[in-house]
Amino acid sequence: MQKKLLEKLCCPFDKGDLNVNVFKEDENGDIYEGLLTCPTCDRYYPIIYSIPIMTPDEYRERQLELPALERWGLMIDEKSNSFVLEESSQTKLIG
Ligand SMILES: [Zn+2]
Repeated sequence: MQKKLLEKLCCPFDKGDLNVNVFKEDENGDIYEGLLTCPTCDRYYPIIYSIPIMTPDEYRERQLELPALERWGLMIDEKSNSFVLEESSQTKLIG
């Protein structure tokens, strides 16, 4: 996804502004892999294969997202039903 599109994206849950961490760019400098996080509700939205996954919680498939999150070194509570990052992962993204 193009970085300029980030300005138009907001959290689908609370319409808050999103933070972004870019893990991989494609040859055009667009975001190929990354993570959007909402400071308001602490939800995360992965960008995988240039596609931001921003569907409502009930339509998201945790199992499809977990391998990418693990590859990025982020800890996710597998038993949790919410799409919220562990505190250690939040710290990692900021630092
Ligand atoms: Zn939010």
